[in-house]
Amino acid sequence: MQQIQAGDIISYTQMCLSEGHSLQRGMNFQIGGRVSVILMSVRKGAPYADRLEDDGEVLIYEGHDVPKNEAAYPKLVDQLMETPKGTPTQNGKFFKAAHDFKDGGAEPELVKVYEKIKDGIWVYNGVFELIDAWEEIGDNRSVFKFKLRVTDRTASQKTERAEELKDLNHNRMIPTSVKLDVWKRDKGKCVECGSSDNLHFDHILPFSKGGTSLKTDNIQLLCARHNLQKSDKIV
Ligand SMILES: [Zn+2]
Repeated sequence: MQQIQAGDIISYTQMCLSEGHSLQRGMNFQIGGRVSVILMSVRKGAPYADRLEDDGEVLIYEGHDVPKNEAAYPKLVDQLMETPKGTPTQNGKFFKAAHDFKDGGAEPELVKVYEKIKDGIWVYNGVFELIDAWEEIGDNRSVFKFKLRVTDRTASQKTERAEELKDLNHNRMIPTSVKLDVWKRDKGKCVECGSSDNLHFDHILPFSKGGTSLKTDNIQLLCARHNLQKSDKIV
């Protein structure tokens, strides 16, 4: 499989293959000692209150509940930074990395974000920098919030200086509602050839040329072949 790109639509299996890891949890800090991965879902009835801000540049991701074997009703108890044994939970690991960046001047943790838009259908939303984390009182309990900013860096460019890249006009994440509307309008098929394999959410006018991620009019489904043909023309 070729290198996965932001906007690619993949199956659960392809996602796990791409990470070389069976992804069972929503939060995966430095899996295999490498990159961090989070899985999100902002669909109706999704278990966590994730949201987009700043036109899709910023993702606010909710931390995770205690496991079901530790609480009868995980949604009724505070999210935790440590396990009963005192080791950091995923919340604790991401929280520490966010504050090492914010307060300690460390490089931001790079996090790959995948989103489930329908059963068995996932979208790769790209690489984000973890830039902040805090605790918030929601429905009578405490939850963690993580702030991630979209970046053009790839997960392997971890050591590059952030300042060199901050002026780049990087892409924006396509909101879930737009993805779902486009999926429905294009009937889950490439608008050029009708293929339903290796699909990609394509910006008709690229973000770098002023195209928006926020309107369905500017987003379409393309298969890998037609997406490649189009980017060849633009370059
Ligand atoms: Zn096609």
